[in-house]
Amino acid sequence: MEPIFLKPVFKEMIWGGNRLGVDFGYDIPGDDTGECWAISAHPNGDCIVENGEYAGKHLSELWDAHRELFGHVEGDRYPLLIKLIDAKADLSIQVHPNDAYAKEHENGSLGKTECWYIVDCDEDAQIVIGHHAKNHEEVKEMILNKRWKDFIRVIPIKKGDFFQINPGCLHAIKGGTLILETQQNSDITYRVYDYDRLSNGKPRELHVEKSIDVIEAPFVPYEVSETKETGDGYEKQNLITCDFYAVNKIDVHGSATFTQDKPFLNVSILEGNGTINGISIKKGDHFILPDRYGDYTLEGNMKIITSSL
Ligand code: ZN
Repeated sequence: MEPIFLKPVFKEMIWGGNRLGVDFGYDIPGDDTGECWAISAHPNGDCIVENGEYAGKHLSELWDAHRELFGHVEGDRYPLLIKLIDAKADLSIQVHPNDAYAKEHENGSLGKTECWYIVDCDEDAQIVIGHHAKNHEEVKEMILNKRWKDFIRVIPIKKGDFFQINPGCLHAIKGGTLILETQQNSDITYRVYDYDRLSNGKPRELHVEKSIDVIEAPFVPYEVSETKETGDGYEKQNLITCDFYAVNKIDVHGSATFTQDKPFLNVSILEGNGTINGISIKKGDHFILPDRYGDYTLEGNMKIITSSL
């Protein structure tokens, strides 16, 4: 069984740029390309398999017809979605509900938990993560009175930073940032504030009441464990393990062998090139190692992000 390589789907966005083309070498649709849906079975961007016996099929078709590839995990959809995001301008400030709230208020949809690995960013880049309100009353008061400067927590970022965004966490990507996002396969987003910008002459829709419902207070930052597993040709760090995913960073410099013993493993190459079990891989490749794939050897110089359930 070969790794399942996927062909990304690109999305043009008002805030997008050209770095997915310039930095990653993708054939992007335009200079406002905001998102690369790299591993996705979502109906709005369902990746096509590039190689092997399933070449030409959508990931959703594999999920439906060949669940054995994914360890017979239950569910109506491939549970994770991996994106690269190039934000040339600021994105709106938003929050996601949890599964329970989404089920009740969004026709049985899933909530959304996501996380961000900063692939690259400008020297003075920042991100919105959390808020400064002491309690829920203050969240409501600050939003209704548009006290955005007091409310929104903006922090500087650098390449290699990692952020976990649980439901109820206020967040926004700001311009000059390239991110790898690992998320629950869901769309439910409440927009809190859009910097009073206009899009086609009109402000974009806000979801103030639902946002106030779901924003958690006070905000508690997530701390990444600095513990690393190091071996002869590699360094591996667990960035997060939560109810929805486990995300790891692997730096390979030489040769290193790992075991894939999960229902499936998503793999994204963010830097460098090399091989996996002798098959060439390079920056910008994304693939899935199916159910209990077993041992795999990575060779070369590469920075890799993996995710599994
Ligand atoms: Zn989000």
